[in-house]
Amino acid sequence: MSNLPEFIKFLYQEYRHLNSGSLASYIPELTKANPNWFAISVVTKEGEIFEIGDSQENFTIQSISKVFVYGMALEDCDRETLLEKIGVEPTGDPFNSVIRLDENSKRPDNPMVNAGAIATAGLIKGANATEKLNRMLDMFRRYIGHDVFINAPVFMSERATGHRNRALANLLLNFGIIENNIEEILDLYFQQCSLVVNCHDLAVMAATLANRGVNPITKEQGIKPCYIRDILSVMYTCGMYNYAGEWAYRVGIPAKSGVSGGIIGVIPDSAGIAVFSPLIDSRGNSIRGMKVFEALSDKFNLHLFDYPLPKCSFLDISENRIESIPKKIEFIFDKTKPL
Ligand code: GLU
Repeated sequence: MSNLPEFIKFLYQEYRHLNSGSLASYIPELTKANPNWFAISVVTKEGEIFEIGDSQENFTIQSISKVFVYGMALEDCDRETLLEKIGVEPTGDPFNSVIRLDENSKRPDNPMVNAGAIATAGLIKGANATEKLNRMLDMFRRYIGHDVFINAPVFMSERATGHRNRALANLLLNFGIIENNIEEILDLYFQQCSLVVNCHDLAVMAATLANRGVNPITKEQGIKPCYIRDILSVMYTCGMYNYAGEWAYRVGIPAKSGVSGGIIGVIPDSAGIAVFSPLIDSRGNSIRGMKVFEALSDKFNLHLFDYPLPKCSFLDISENRIESIPKKIEFIFDKTKPL
């Protein structure tokens, strides 16, 4: 990514005065954010860091946590067991919708909406609540590369006002998706949302996903590489609330946003990107964050379907493989020969 330092500087100047949107207010503690905060961080898989603005300003991770806890549940339960409990279908509904969890679906649509994320928290293994929390914090520590902590006032605020999430948990219990320890599961979910991060941390976490699960700074393994494609798939299809489709179309980067104003994006085998600005739109996405991602995608051809497309080993007809490829396939893909 040549020109990257100059370009993020340009984007920072370009969008720092964009003041549309508002602070998330449904969790009272989040209204204390400073609307001027703005940061862009990029961490490459080689561990290079490019950032500008308030990249060390702390905030709570909120919904971005769902990505990483889903990865942990994949490791704890495996893919098929998880799929029985939580689907991978985009909803087009708001993140906290209760409508989709009904008699027809029998399970939450995906792990990026609250119903699916609460179900995911219910699958985290541990002998008791403390062990589950400690395992979760250790997982975040591996991704971030330093000790982590929970913002207690945000956690208490979520717990005191999370009536809708409590309703979702009751529905999940009714459908047999979670066990009858609702308050413990909700606490774990509220704690994951209240994890303290900054924009730099988020870029390192995204870069870990881009680097086959290995934190590019500390070299510690955050997650087994075999689960990265599951995580990136749900990020790509469900990560941006009910804007996920347009995001895939315009930006084309597996991403996840949170109502505190962060957005992470993963460029597989290349880099992690994070933007932080707490002014969000009605769907819950950071407005400056979306602008920055769209511009970066355009400038550096980061859309997943930009040419050149990633190389496919199936089509890589090298000298020593050609004999093993059936005639028909060779014919179909050999565009140099006349039909
Ligand atoms: N803790 C929030 C909730 O469950 C997460 C919101 C979000 O970032 O989407 O309501």
